[in-house]
Amino acid sequence: MKSPIPDYLQSVLEKARPIEEGAPAGYIDVLARADTSRLAVALAMVDGNIYSAGDDELEFSMQSISKAFVYAIAIEDAGLKAVLDKIGMEPSGDAFNRLSLQKDSNRPFNPLINAGAITAHSLVVAPDATVEQRTERILNALSRLAERELHIDEEVFEAEWKDANRNMGIGYMLKAAGIITCNPAEAVRGYIRQCSINVTVKDLAMMASVLCNSGVHPISGERIMPAESARQVLSVMATCGMYDGSGEWLATVGFSAKSGVSGAIMGALPGQVGIAAFSPKLDERGNSLRSVDICKQLSADMGLHLMNSSQVALSTVQIKVAKILAGVNNTEPHHPNCDREVMVFSLRGAVRFAGSERLTRALERELTGPHMDACAVVLSFRETYSLNDIARRVIHEDIKRLLEDSRNVVAIDPSDVLQWHAYAKGDREHPVIVETESQARDHIGGAGCRAVTLSEGW
Ligand code: GLU
Repeated sequence: MKSPIPDYLQSVLEKARPIEEGAPAGYIDVLARADTSRLAVALAMVDGNIYSAGDDELEFSMQSISKAFVYAIAIEDAGLKAVLDKIGMEPSGDAFNRLSLQKDSNRPFNPLINAGAITAHSLVVAPDATVEQRTERILNALSRLAERELHIDEEVFEAEWKDANRNMGIGYMLKAAGIITCNPAEAVRGYIRQCSINVTVKDLAMMASVLCNSGVHPISGERIMPAESARQVLSVMATCGMYDGSGEWLATVGFSAKSGVSGAIMGALPGQVGIAAFSPKLDERGNSLRSVDICKQLSADMGLHLMNSSQVALSTVQIKVAKILAGVNNTEPHHPNCDREVMVFSLRGAVRFAGSERLTRALERELTGPHMDACAVVLSFRETYSLNDIARRVIHEDIKRLLEDSRNVVAIDPSDVLQWHAYAKGDREHPVIVETESQARDHIGGAGCRAVTLSEGW
């Protein structure tokens, strides 16, 4: 079978192609001369699989999209606290290249407008580093994200550097306000070099997928940045990534994104997919009209809005009441004089707080109500893909309380998602932890009751 996804991406491009409004960025002459017919899209899944269509091998400069990653590098090199002391996290409501600082703190509003991005750049490596050291650090880090060696487009760099008065103005403003400590002209030169790094849509989608995958590279499996940094970058992208169109973007398209004046948009839906679109003609805010249209189509067609509520929590808990019978002809109670029920609670999927709360509620409801007399409680994690920290804490607490109530608790946990022994400290009581259902049945059966069968499919 041929996957329908590449055909779908091609159809998305064909719908965006007739959009002819807008113009390429005029203030960098190389960008002003761009071939405006160019059009491309790519998706990178969090397991490293990439789909693309259109001019997917075409290289263009990252421009402002570099700001998102340089923010992560600054956090790594200077520490989050030092970065937050210098750069805010609020949308500015102004154009990206406005000479603006927050009133109370003198900090740039956020790392995705030029003032914040030049500051973030100045924090890479160390405050006294050279342009060359910072550029090398950024190129290496971005190349690791893209899984290939990236290069600076020197023609684009020269074109912007020869007329960088506004960014120079921002640099000197930052220096006067005590936000950057290095030579402002050097910080601006380094910043413009970072903007001139060339990528393709496939590179950008892959780079975004690292953010979506909590900082771990889907292909190499390497941790590129701490999960907290990936979350921080995605958060500022969600609120400030689309220039002063960020609020409308979040409401209508609904995933974190950063755009650049070369015509690219990089999008990221945590845990799912990295997205990139490219076409050079921009609207008055600096966002590529066709790239915006592509992202809107992808969001609507594939349900990529961050605020879409999912049904996952409702389908995570399955409850079964099993009467386990034992004996030679499978008609005797599972334990001498005991034909009481065994309650089986199964948890499915990637369980977070809402799923663990449903389990807690089900345990409370069933074991204080209709099945109060159940002689054993089986918690099955056989179909549990993962528990996040809070879900694990809630379930550990459930188990502790069941044991305190003198319940016979058996956990079927073949992949150790519960991590009972890693987390349960002290001399507290432990549940029986087994790998298979038949081991659980053997245990519940108890002595003299080995040949256990089951009712109701368990
Ligand atoms: N090099 C550009 C500048 O600072 C980046 C702008 C952008 O892509 O928004 O003017």
